[in-house]
Amino acid sequence: MTLLQIHENRGSARVAAPAEEPSVPTMNLSSDLKEVRATRDLAEALKLTKELIQDSSFPTARAWVAGGGHAAAFFPVYTPQEIAHALGLLPVSLRGGGEDLEITHADAALGSFLCSISKSTLELAITGKLDPFGAFVFPYICDVSRNLEGIFSRLRPNAVTHMLHLPQNFTSASSVPFLVAEYGRLVEKLERLAGQRLSKEALADSLQVYNRRRALLADLAAIRRNEPWKLAATELNLLERLGDLVPPEVQMPVLERALREVKERQRPKRDAVRVILVGPFCEQPTHDLLSLIEEAGCYVVGDELSMLHRWMGDVPVSGDPLENLARAYIRSPVDIGVRATPMPKGVSIVARAKEAEAQGVLFLTAKFCEPALEDVVLYRKGLDDHKIPYLHLEFEEKSTSYEQSRLQIETFVESVLFD
Ligand code: SF4
Repeated sequence: MTLLQIHENRGSARVAAPAEEPSVPTMNLSSDLKEVRATRDLAEALKLTKELIQDSSFPTARAWVAGGGHAAAFFPVYTPQEIAHALGLLPVSLRGGGEDLEITHADAALGSFLCSISKSTLELAITGKLDPFGAFVFPYICDVSRNLEGIFSRLRPNAVTHMLHLPQNFTSASSVPFLVAEYGRLVEKLERLAGQRLSKEALADSLQVYNRRRALLADLAAIRRNEPWKLAATELNLLERLGDLVPPEVQMPVLERALREVKERQRPKRDAVRVILVGPFCEQPTHDLLSLIEEAGCYVVGDELSMLHRWMGDVPVSGDPLENLARAYIRSPVDIGVRATPMPKGVSIVARAKEAEAQGVLFLTAKFCEPALEDVVLYRKGLDDHKIPYLHLEFEEKSTSYEQSRLQIETFVESVLFD
């Protein structure tokens, strides 16, 4: 089936999912998402978050739209969600379809040797799961994301689609004005969906809200780094991913409670190897794979899983908020596969491993993700030079059996512990 045929089918069968589509139970939430606020402790919040992630019909966006609002979907890795928030939109981060989504249509439109997230995101659109969204924003992180924007503009002609260009030169005096202009193009489009103009005051308020959220996540990440027995990587990841789906005002009470609870936890230390996870900055490994890494004897003390939520620290709110946001992006020290700071990659990975006091590096790259795979070569050279051990595993969304990965991780852990 060609993309044109998919488009035509999609346009003529908007109400009925394709015949072979299994009926998936979906959650229905109230428009103010009080179900999230009502969770009583960390365990309940994590359980609900997991259910929200598994429900590919985006229950939070559906609830928001049913309550009269508009929702905007953002592809990884980085997008300025504060802008959507300041316009009263619900910003939702797309993270692919997970292991439960059957790919039956997108394979026909995209080549075989492409990452899973590109196919699952397209599958979600073709099967109507992304109907609640009135806008789709794709940062130009790779050829795949660039083409998805074009495909979405044809599949959803009535929605706002936008390809966001982010600078790669962080030392040029033109980088900030360039990014402010790029954000300006995005603002114009999102204003159309929101039906209102963006005010400086509203954006400054949103910067403050997001600063507070980043501070809470940074506190949790610090516990995970300093006392990893108190907070599992899977738990931190779920807390971050809740923010992919709900507004910060709904997520923050959950984070505050989690912080109090985790600080009080009395859990025994394990004899585990401290590792940083490098590579999964866009497509996400499954929850089962992340759990397995910890079960097999690792403490994950740093990762690239939810960079969106910890890309920058405090963004100043006085002055021009759009310029502040652009400057914060450019000044961020984040160095991942789709962003190269002036520091050589081999030097950067060693610095990150040392900062996290990691004993090893676990490369966890999505299959066919060129930006991640290309950097592994450069990272390995730096690690070899400093005799820092590493292991490289590849994953895809539909992986279900991890026995070989378990064996490889256990062998790696033993070699680090007993060498
Ligand atoms: S997983 Fe890699 S190749 Fe695929 S869209 Fe993301 S950055 Fe691009």
